[in-house]
Amino acid sequence: MARVKIEVEGFQCERCGHKWIPRGDDEEPSVCPKCKSPYWNKPRKRKVKGK
Ligand SMILES: [Zn+2]
Repeated sequence: MARVKIEVEGFQCERCGHKWIPRGDDEEPSVCPKCKSPYWNKPRKRKVKGK
């Protein structure tokens, strides 16, 4: 058996930068496990309007 690099998909908090790996199911966590922000997956700036 060869050694392979296994990459796991995880999440990163937009607020504190914390990265974590989900437990296995595809469900997105509702809050960041570190800073408990419910906006962990929402970038601060939304669509830039106008210019
Ligand atoms: Zn966070």
